[in-house]
Amino acid sequence: MTEAIKTKYETVIGLEVHAEMKTDSKMFCGCAVVDSTSAPPNTTVCPVCSGMPGTLPVVNRKAVEFGMKVALALGCTINQTSIFARKNYFYPDMPKGYQISQYELPLAEHGQIVINTPRGEETIRVTRVHLEEDAGKLTHIENNGVSHSLVDLNRAGVPLLEIVSEPDIRSVEGARAYGEALRQIVRYLDVNSGDMEKGVIRFEANISIRPTGSEEFGTRVEVKNLNSFRTMERAIEFETERQARVLQAGGSIDQETLGWNEANSSTYSMRSKEDAHDYRYFPEPDLPPLVVDQAWIDVVRASLPELPRARYLRFKEEYQLTDYAASVLTADRATADYFEAVLEHVPTSVSPKIVSNWVTGELFALINQAGTGIEVIKVQPEALAGLVRSVAEGQINPNTGKTVLGEMFTSGRGAEEIVAARGLKQVSDTDFIARIVKDALDENPEEVALYQAGKESVANWLFGQVMRKAKGKANPQVVRAELEKQLTKL
Ligand code: ADP
Ligand code: ZN
Ligand code: MG
Repeated sequence: MTEAIKTKYETVIGLEVHAEMKTDSKMFCGCAVVDSTSAPPNTTVCPVCSGMPGTLPVVNRKAVEFGMKVALALGCTINQTSIFARKNYFYPDMPKGYQISQYELPLAEHGQIVINTPRGEETIRVTRVHLEEDAGKLTHIENNGVSHSLVDLNRAGVPLLEIVSEPDIRSVEGARAYGEALRQIVRYLDVNSGDMEKGVIRFEANISIRPTGSEEFGTRVEVKNLNSFRTMERAIEFETERQARVLQAGGSIDQETLGWNEANSSTYSMRSKEDAHDYRYFPEPDLPPLVVDQAWIDVVRASLPELPRARYLRFKEEYQLTDYAASVLTADRATADYFEAVLEHVPTSVSPKIVSNWVTGELFALINQAGTGIEVIKVQPEALAGLVRSVAEGQINPNTGKTVLGEMFTSGRGAEEIVAARGLKQVSDTDFIARIVKDALDENPEEVALYQAGKESVANWLFGQVMRKAKGKANPQVVRAELEKQLTKL
């Protein structure tokens, strides 16, 4: 985006997010919810979710509970009575000819998400949270020059939660931060895997621009089916520039629904406001109003875990961690739980910062290398605590510690066991260290001469020679002190 456009116009964004709920069964029938990217097509389908006439929907209590969890986590007010409505349209992935959704009276309203952007902390208001059902999936193929559309109804009727924001977002960074925060919340609540590649959480961006300083909103477009944060960012950047060019040229923006063309990195028109859908919403006659009483709301509220932002703020405050460390350690619940479990097992003399360095440094590196997740690694928090303690207490030096952790990671054995078996115990014996320092200096007269001629960096090289002689086991602090002593005495 050019700087001129960035300063002349302000981008205004409102996001609509669809998140499938990770329930066992579908929203209105008993069919299992399966991975729609891998399960054989049309294997979890019944008369209800395939839209046979004469069938009746029954609301999935778990889906309502999951929806309430998200709504409460967003600080929304739950409507004790909400109404299911029919949203009528025809599409081959929607055999009933309508989607059961919520319209005038959604499950919940008036929440917010706090995000960090380059401009500081921002609060984005959440307009509404409502329950609906997902549609099936279409795959378009070509066979001998003939186009076919294949319909898979496994996803039809999967519980879907729609979360709509106010047009409070003002930047690409804000849109990403909001999207990531919402994804993190549904993952903390364990109601959605957050797996964007599988399409279980999907984003639509409403985008308009206005002259910087103006109070009035411009005309918005809606960009559908953004399947990654990167795509969302690019679509927002593209639209900001496109709309700015139109306004600069004296034109006006059409309110339309757009798609994103990955190949051309541009948006394209799907339909204009003129041919906007008339969904002819009306209350679903086959379902009574959805009633949730205060007692149920209280139970669900009490079941909420500590939420990501609260945990992030607490980690910074209680453990004195940097913004970065606190945010990566609270990125998901498993990592935050792991870190706190390690803390419980180290002596109080070991600071949280040291534990944080081990987890976000060496352990994350091993996990990334192995392409695995912290929930399944062989190094239990107690075991990592044992290693960190051994290093802190000087039984092994930090470098040996890294080697030992690598071995713990592959074998699942404990630190002490590995140190004993491989004779890695750190040597702090000053007589021994004095002897190998002397040997190193005797063997390298040229480097010593360079040092004496003022090239002090040679000391580091000599340090390396001593450590090699000690097979890495010497206490580095003792070696440094002894080396300095002997070099100055020369
Ligand atoms: P629709 O059914 O037309 O999609 P919704 O109420 O579901 O309407 O969603 C409207 C979305 O558009 C909300 O996220 C809202 O914040 C956003 N929005 C409304 N006006 C603007 C605007 N001028 N610029 C950007 N976003 C807007
Ligand atoms: Zn079914
Ligand atoms: Mg919309």
